[in-house]
Amino acid sequence: MRIDAHVHGDFSKLKVSPQEYVEKCRAKGVERIVLIDDPEPTMTAYRALPDFVIPVPWVDIDKVTVSEISEILDAGALGIKFIDPQFSYGDTRYDPLYAAISAKCKVAMFHTGYLGIGVFERARPTDITFMSPAAVDCMSRRHPDLKILMAHFGNPWWEEAWKIMWSVPNVYAELSGGTAFKRSMRMWAETFAPNGVLDPESLGKVLYASDVRVFIENEGFDPYFEFYDELFDAVGASPEMREKVNRGNALELFGLG
Ligand SMILES: [Zn+2]
Repeated sequence: MRIDAHVHGDFSKLKVSPQEYVEKCRAKGVERIVLIDDPEPTMTAYRALPDFVIPVPWVDIDKVTVSEISEILDAGALGIKFIDPQFSYGDTRYDPLYAAISAKCKVAMFHTGYLGIGVFERARPTDITFMSPAAVDCMSRRHPDLKILMAHFGNPWWEEAWKIMWSVPNVYAELSGGTAFKRSMRMWAETFAPNGVLDPESLGKVLYASDVRVFIENEGFDPYFEFYDELFDAVGASPEMREKVNRGNALELFGLG
């Protein structure tokens, strides 16, 4: 079984009963999902499916207030997702938001790397360097107790993401999205098992994640199952390591263990 640490979806579009949907996902091998959407729909889905949905609403980092973050977390969210900032994630202006999440021992999830599709309505171009792994590294130094999850492994700054995840104890990462699983498996094998020797310190901080849309009939989980399984095979990951990446790290990070 896997916990998918990155999905989106509109719960109101569900065509079957919530319980039927959960059973269908679990039959496919997905035990729980980290749902990322606006706060209200995310929490609505969570209230309907508390044992299945791990709610991590996204907020506009340049507009949200500390008290709004606290309210979202007090309502049961287990993390906050940030994306498309007007300034670097490492800018000190965001520190009160990070501190509010850290104070409640919740997860700060960051979109890292390339951003092709508009998320919030914006009249300005996106600067993807504000979302680089180095920007996460910068803020992580001031928030050593904050649980940090880098989405998309810094695409295309793979090496930078690897270095920061490997170096900073509180930084975890996932390989979701349309790009990582299209890159060469030889590249990934070399990333996590340099010269053929598995580095448990780095693969051990990865979470299974897809970035698919859920609450529809065919979510398209399969290519991501295959990608992660190929990666495990390519680096000779033990059953324990597979379990850790597939679900253990998510349980630990989101405090569900
Ligand atoms: Zn996403």
